[in-house]
Amino acid sequence: MACPWIHCNICLRLPVSNSRYFISNCGHIACDRCVEKKLIAPTCSICKRDSKIEEINKNLREDLRKYFVNIHDFAVKSFNEVKSVIEFQSKNCRRLMKHKMEKIQELQNTTIKHSEDSATIAKLQKYVSFSHYD
Ligand SMILES: [Zn+2]
Ligand SMILES: [Zn+2]
Repeated sequence: MACPWIHCNICLRLPVSNSRYFISNCGHIACDRCVEKKLIAPTCSICKRDSKIEEINKNLREDLRKYFVNIHDFAVKSFNEVKSVIEFQSKNCRRLMKHKMEKIQELQNTTIKHSEDSATIAKLQKYVSFSHYD
């Protein structure tokens, strides 16, 4: 089970069913009671910065909402993305390696054929030079 990490950074109250929580642009979280007491906006009582707040719910801005996702789901999704990238890249790597191995094999075969040809040529040259002296 995920750590129940959401709490009011001012009064430390944990969420209950009907409580509302807010996040400020300074990154601090406050409960509805502390918001009503103006402890988070327009000035954050923790960091003393000017702040604007947004309610933490499904309509929260994407750049802030990402911090409130289920960490397990996020980890699985991220892992699957990493896995698909690794699979794609290693498939291409294997394809390239196979091609290079085939090239090496071709070159080795050509080298063997060349040395066989050289041996044949050497034999022919011997024959030619013997017949020349005959
Ligand atoms: Zn509070
Ligand atoms: Zn703050």
